[in-house]
Amino acid sequence: MTGEGAATRARILRFAPALLAWHESEGRKDLPWQRDRTPYRVWVAEVMLQQTQVGTAAGYYERFMARFPKVRDLAAAQLDEVLHLWSGLGYYARARNLQRAAQILVQRHGGEFPATLAELMALPGIGRSTAGAILALSRGERHPILDGNVRRVLARYFAVDGYPGDTTVERRLWALAEACTPHSRVDEYTQGIMDLGATICTRANPACLLCPVNSACEARQNDAQRLYPAPKPRKARPQREAWVVLARRGSKVLLERRPPSGIWGGLWGLPEFPTRQHAAQWCREYLAGSSALRPEEPLKHAFSHFDYDIKPLTVHCAGKAPALRDDDRYRWYDVDDPAEVRTFGLRCIFAGALLMLLGVILGAFGAHALQKMLTLKQLSSYQTGVMYQQLHSLALILVGILALVTSASRWLPRAAVLFGVGIFFFSGSIYALTFGAPRWLGMVAPMGGLSFMLAWLSIALHAGKGGR
Ligand code: SF4
Repeated sequence: MTGEGAATRARILRFAPALLAWHESEGRKDLPWQRDRTPYRVWVAEVMLQQTQVGTAAGYYERFMARFPKVRDLAAAQLDEVLHLWSGLGYYARARNLQRAAQILVQRHGGEFPATLAELMALPGIGRSTAGAILALSRGERHPILDGNVRRVLARYFAVDGYPGDTTVERRLWALAEACTPHSRVDEYTQGIMDLGATICTRANPACLLCPVNSACEARQNDAQRLYPAPKPRKARPQREAWVVLARRGSKVLLERRPPSGIWGGLWGLPEFPTRQHAAQWCREYLAGSSALRPEEPLKHAFSHFDYDIKPLTVHCAGKAPALRDDDRYRWYDVDDPAEVRTFGLRCIFAGALLMLLGVILGAFGAHALQKMLTLKQLSSYQTGVMYQQLHSLALILVGILALVTSASRWLPRAAVLFGVGIFFFSGSIYALTFGAPRWLGMVAPMGGLSFMLAWLSIALHAGKGGR
């Protein structure tokens, strides 16, 4: 790095070796995204971790990756489902950008990650630091990163004055990040500096005694850790207000899908208006015959760059159904019986139909095999009932195991219940039709099937809960 003083150059030279030695013995190596480091897995983790603590992100990450293991799965998903799995992490623009970028990767790059920093940075939601982290962590390429944690470490280590959001300060921090990045073991270095910021050089009370670079840290030498990085210059926070209509119909509440961009973009929320007059006009138009609007206690929500005053107005819709029906924009949401994400129903039915078909084939195959194997006398024996029962029970258990293994999937366990129901009825009827068994014996197989099905149902429900 040219133009730097001797002290800074010495600090640069000492930084990476000390950090790498520390990472080798103390760094985190068992986080979910550290296994099987593909560009896709690193990318999802980096985006999730942008505004979320490691402890919170880990569970979300596992569920997200179980549902979208490949970039193509994410690209093909419905936005509702992506947002549903993101629900609770906040900053939903990250999830929308993630999916949009996945679609671009599939359309323009055949589902592969591009090779260059510039191409990665052209994707929605991927800045220079995220692109650098993807290439450094998954491919070991030498690119500096400068996320919030790294910015703090470098600002303190080199005592960089000024708010890091200012262009000149940011440029200096990037230059220092570039100069400190070693030419080998870049993946370990990148993970190490992120870990150092997250666990040692924390925002409040940095654990300088445990820090591997403490002997050269300028902020520590001057006992000035709390001065770096400088806080954002204070400005009056803008205020915004919105009126929302809480339209009730029995146990149902009217939701409207928000526009794809802006606050909570793409999520379902209460219909929102800039003024009370707009809200009243809309109610007259779309909720004719409803009660008068009743103002409720206002809510305050603080966003990072403004304060939001939300003023709810309640209205009760009685009598016949109002003009607004369930569609892509509006939905009457039953608070006593919450609906699943919309994509769930279709997938469940589709998967259930496929699995039932599989059940029919299995049952027919079993019946045919039994016919070949058993004599006529054996066919009417009690043993036949037991054997047939075992056959379809085995099929149920196999699917049960499959559902457990894929417990992060939200639709498979329920679809498999349909499969169980299908096999249950199918086995009873095919048994009676094929073998002409006595009526009492004809009940044995379905009863056995019923007991297995109940056991299976509990497994499926358990797996369904685990998948949330
Ligand atoms: S010595 Fe303290 S302030 Fe300096 S980098 Fe380490 S933890 Fe941060």
